[in-house]
Amino acid sequence: MKDPHPPVAWRRTLPLPRFGRGVISAEFVTLPLESDPTPDDLVQPFQIDPFALRGRLVRLGPTVDRILSQHDYPEPVAAVLGEAIVLAVVLAGALKYDGIFTLQTKSDGPVRLIVADVSTDGAVRGYAQYDKERLDGLRACPGLSSSVPELIGKGYIAFTVDQGEHTERYQGIVELIGATLAECARHYFRQSEQIQAGIKLSASRSGPNGAWRAGGLMLQRVPPEGGYTVIADDVEDGWRRAMVLMSSATPAELVDPLLSPHRLLFRLFHDEGVRVYDTHPIEARCRCSKERIGRILRSFPADDIEELRKDEVITVTCEFCNTSYDFAGKDFAPLASA
Ligand SMILES: [Zn+2]
Repeated sequence: MKDPHPPVAWRRTLPLPRFGRGVISAEFVTLPLESDPTPDDLVQPFQIDPFALRGRLVRLGPTVDRILSQHDYPEPVAAVLGEAIVLAVVLAGALKYDGIFTLQTKSDGPVRLIVADVSTDGAVRGYAQYDKERLDGLRACPGLSSSVPELIGKGYIAFTVDQGEHTERYQGIVELIGATLAECARHYFRQSEQIQAGIKLSASRSGPNGAWRAGGLMLQRVPPEGGYTVIADDVEDGWRRAMVLMSSATPAELVDPLLSPHRLLFRLFHDEGVRVYDTHPIEARCRCSKERIGRILRSFPADDIEELRKDEVITVTCEFCNTSYDFAGKDFAPLASA
């Protein structure tokens, strides 16, 4: 039996606040090439002056390898989930929130569901649900790529901020439009009249011994509170130039374990005067526990509890981390939900 409560319910909520103010209060320093930070499992925020361009470079090594290795996903499913995880981390870094940021797709393709969530303290997890037969059919057709329309199909992508009980939940939902998850995210920004943003994502077995790695780069235009100090044409030119430079980052560079985040940013933007903020660590950590799953089971309707009581052992497996929890059926009191 699977964890019966997916983290995001598809219900109406408040619209998601604008992305982009998440790192504004951090102190920034000039790019120090001599003292590279730990090059993996981190968010590296950066800024390009004087055009008020903000960005984040995300590098995931052991974190994404651990999440993807907890499941026996076929390669295309693992790769697209890896991209979804790094996209969730990139976007969460652009939001000011205290709780959980969740990315979820729901669609009619071979991969019918993807969930990735990130807590404020940097704990990330994710899983995918797919139809094996349809996926095998897709893989058997030469010439078909692992693009979003083929692999994920038609559907929706939702971004949700949940800050705990007794708070409003914020959510933005948009149709899946684009060949890649990065394009789908850009479509969201266009639809929701968000700030202009560019996003690049990459996930592959590029680590030691074929370990999964993932990388993401997001650049956004956040007009400064007091207005620009340079003329409008220069701001436009600066934005266009930065987008061209960003697009020159290859998928291999985004995940290269030998290319540190600072060196990659220096390679891309040093002529533009890139500066970096302090990094935020990211780690693979699930929030499931026997107590939490027991609480969910005990909240079932009385009829379902009666069914559970007939089983000697009830095994519930967490969708996220694949950990199994055993419960004795007789331990469920018949009137538990009354
Ligand atoms: Zn779990």
